[in-house]
Amino acid sequence: MSRSTSADVIVVGAGVVGASCAYHLTRASLRVLVVEAFGGPAEGSTGRSFASIRSQWADPLNIEMSWRSICAFRSFPAGHGLDVGYRPTGYLLLVPDAQWPAQLAAVELQRAHGIPVDVLDVAAAARITPFAADGIAGATWGPADGVVDPHLATRAYLEMAQAAGAQVRYRHRVSAIEPSKDGWSVTAGGLACRARYLVNAAGGWAGEVAALAGLTVPVVHSRRNIYATAPGALPGRLPMTIDLGRGVYVRSEGLRLLFGVARPDQPDGYDVSVDWPWMETALALGTARFPWLADVPLDRSGCWAGTYENSPDLHGILGPDPAAPTWINACGFSGHGLMQAPEIGRLAAEQIRTGDITSVDISALRLERFTATAAGERVGLVF
Ligand SMILES: Cc1cc2nc3c(=O)[nH]c(=O)nc-3n(C[C@H](O)[C@H](O)[C@H](O)COP(=O)(O)OP(=O)(O)OC[C@H]3O[C@@H](n4cnc5c(N)ncnc54)[C@H](O)[C@@H]3O)c2cc1C
Repeated sequence: MSRSTSADVIVVGAGVVGASCAYHLTRASLRVLVVEAFGGPAEGSTGRSFASIRSQWADPLNIEMSWRSICAFRSFPAGHGLDVGYRPTGYLLLVPDAQWPAQLAAVELQRAHGIPVDVLDVAAAARITPFAADGIAGATWGPADGVVDPHLATRAYLEMAQAAGAQVRYRHRVSAIEPSKDGWSVTAGGLACRARYLVNAAGGWAGEVAALAGLTVPVVHSRRNIYATAPGALPGRLPMTIDLGRGVYVRSEGLRLLFGVARPDQPDGYDVSVDWPWMETALALGTARFPWLADVPLDRSGCWAGTYENSPDLHGILGPDPAAPTWINACGFSGHGLMQAPEIGRLAAEQIRTGDITSVDISALRLERFTATAAGERVGLVF
């Protein structure tokens, strides 16, 4: 005999985004059901992330989304009595000559939003993370940027949601979704669920989940690899440092150094096996900027891979589907979903609570940007 339940909102996915959505929805006194395919929270992209958070963006929306989220992570101990591992270890961006004017303009924008950010010359930057300075004009440093623990953050949101009455069901993969006159009928594991609203927080699987309902959400998995050195022999504890020219990023984790760089020809698709051939390229790109890396032995046991949840323009998809207003997308944040999860959840709940998102101008995140419409009818995706 199949089991059944109902709620005001079904949240698909118990990664950090779904967890934040669940928490913010319960704060609006809504009955929430979270359904998750894996056996526990944060087993998708969230648990495989690099855990870094920054408000150093070049556009107002990302600046706002990240900064509000950093403030939310920072306030967990005082606000909720919980530590989600927020540490302001800082973020150092090494900027090539050609990108320097644009970076200085971004700094002005960040400061206009009240964000602390310093402009450093090469010598000052090298005192934070030693690097080869050829072609680097200077650096910017975000002292409030840093890291957050993805597992702790996800669990904290879910536990607070559950304390407020949310149900969370693991090993309940959504396999069927039907629109009904008063919302959505969802089959997840052996459970038949009904709810007025559905939040699609399925990360890189968001397109597959939408397809179950006959909707189109352009999100794909794209593998990213994190490589690790053996413990010791590093020039100190290093904050997140990105060479904006080559795209290589490094940071300390305990006594190890972690580093990575995106593979440009990475095929789409879910793949969490470590790309060992790419490690040689990543190491070559890394040592070109951080020559001391050549002297540190690598440790394969500390390496891992996961997938970004990429949209066509590498920005998130947030808000209702134009063809199905009770279907709320909160997905596709393309490698910055962790650092913006608090704000994503707050805004998804605002949509359901008030019927719109007005506290932040999220036009650039709406699904409609990928569609052309005529007389309100969707005529096709343009990516
Ligand atoms: C190597 C790596 C480094 C990263 N570094 C950073 C970083 O430094 N900073 C940052 O902000 N972000 C980073 N990211 C990206 C970040 O991890 C993601 O943006 C974020 O975790 C997305 O969270 P999510 O909840 O949307 O997705 P997920 O964590 O993937 O959660 C989606 C959940 O939906 C579930 N689901 C899917 N389909 C179904 C279904 N049919 N039924 C039920 N459940 C389903 C999945 O099982 C999954 O648990 C990184 C990612 C990787 C892989």
